[in-house]
Amino acid sequence: MPQKVQRVKGVNDILPQEARQWQALEHIVKQVMDRYAFGEIRPPIFEKTELFARGVGEDTDIVSKEMYSFSDMSKSSLTLRPELTAGVVRSYIQNNLQQISPVQKLWYEGPMFRQERPQKGRYRQFWQFGAEAIGSPNPEQDAEMIALFYTILKELGIESSVTLKINSVGDGESRALYRSSLQEYLRPHLSLLSETSQKRFESNPLRILDSKAPSDKELVRDAPKIRECLNKASATHYAEVLKMLEAMDIPYIQDDLLVRGLDYYTHTIFEFTSDALGAQDAICGGGRYNDLVSELGGQDVPAIGWASGIERLLLVVDALQPLKADSGLDLFLIVQGEDLRVKAPKLIHEWRRAGLRCDMDTLRRSMKAQMREANRQEASYVAILGEDEFGQGIVQLKNFKTGEQEAVSFENVASYLRSHGS
Ligand code: AMP
Repeated sequence: MPQKVQRVKGVNDILPQEARQWQALEHIVKQVMDRYAFGEIRPPIFEKTELFARGVGEDTDIVSKEMYSFSDMSKSSLTLRPELTAGVVRSYIQNNLQQISPVQKLWYEGPMFRQERPQKGRYRQFWQFGAEAIGSPNPEQDAEMIALFYTILKELGIESSVTLKINSVGDGESRALYRSSLQEYLRPHLSLLSETSQKRFESNPLRILDSKAPSDKELVRDAPKIRECLNKASATHYAEVLKMLEAMDIPYIQDDLLVRGLDYYTHTIFEFTSDALGAQDAICGGGRYNDLVSELGGQDVPAIGWASGIERLLLVVDALQPLKADSGLDLFLIVQGEDLRVKAPKLIHEWRRAGLRCDMDTLRRSMKAQMREANRQEASYVAILGEDEFGQGIVQLKNFKTGEQEAVSFENVASYLRSHGS
C-alpha cells in the first residue's frame, strides 16, 4: 500500500465543524470593521523577501530565522508573508491610496507563515485578521484602533478575560534618549545578560526588556523606564490616548517592559493577552509605526495597526463560551423507492433555491440509514417522499424533535418551514 502523506509539522486542517466557529468569528469581525468604516484589503500571500527585511527589520526573530523564503524561476527571492503590515504598506504606496483619501482605514484576514517551534497556540501557518489606519498622527486614531479590537472582544463576549497592556516607545528623539540611558544602566552588567541580549545590546537594546531569560528579567526589573524618557510631544500623545481609553471605559494596564518584537514601532504600542491561554497568551498586538511608510519608499505618512491570531482567539472563545454556530440542517429529504431517486434532485434543488439548508442521500441507502443521516446532520425536519406522495405532489414533513407530521405540497415546503420556525 502506498504510504499516506501527512500534513507538514505546525500547520492545521480546519475541518467543517471548526470552520463553523471560524465563520461565526469572521462574521463578527466583518461587521465590526464595517461599523468602524474600515475597508477590506487582500494583498498577495507572497512578496519580495526584501519587503520584510526592510519593513519588519533584519534583526527581528521573524526575519532572521522564521521566514519561508524561496527562489522562483527568475531567481528572485520571495517570502510567504510572516505578517501583513509590510504588505499593506507596500500596497498603499504602490496603489497611491493616499490620493483617494488622506486617511486610509484598511483591514485584512488571511494565513501567515513563520517557522517557529510549534506548540499549543503557536503554528507555522496561522491566521490573522488585522487593521491598519494610515494617515493620521493623532491620538484619537490610536484610541479608535484599540476601541476597534475591544469592540470585537465584546461582541465575542470575552472582554473580561482579556487584559490590554499598553506602553509608549515615543518618537525617534525619545527612543534615542532612552536607548542610551538603558545602555548606561546595563553596561556594568553586560556579562550577566543572556547571549541573545548581549548581541542586542548594540543593535536593539530595547528588546532586552522583553527577554524571557531569567537573568535578563532580574536585571531589567530596575532599569529606567521608557515613559520617563519621553519628550513633551510624545508624553502628551501618550497621555491623550490613555485619557480617551478611560473615557470609553476600556480598561488597560501600563506595562513598562512592553516593547514588542518588531522594529518599526513608534509611540503607542499595545498587546491584548488572555489568562485562558498558556505560554502563548497574546491574542492581539500592535502599535504606531510613523516611519514605516517613508522607510518603504512612500511619503512621510504616520500610521498605526494591530493584528490578532484567529486560532488563539478561538481557543479563548472555546474556553469561555463557544460561539453560537448554527450547525443543523433545515430539512433532510428521505426517498422511498428507487424510481424516485432521479426525481429527488430537482425537488431539493428548488428548496435550496428558496433558501432552505437541505440535504439528501446519494448512496441509495435504506430508509433507516437515511433517517440516521438526517439525525447526524441535526436536521430540524425530514421530508418523506414515497410513490403515493409523489403522485399527489406532496411530501410528509416530520418534525424531528416533536414527531409531528403533516402533508405539504412541494411548492409550499419552504414557506411551511419558515412559518413553523425550522
Ligand atoms: P505579531 O505579528 O507577532 O505581533 O502577532 C500578532 C498576533 O498574531 C499574536 O498576538 C498572536 O495572536 C498571533 N500569532 C503570532 N504568531 C503566531 C503563531 N506562530 N501561531 C499562532 N498565532 C500567532
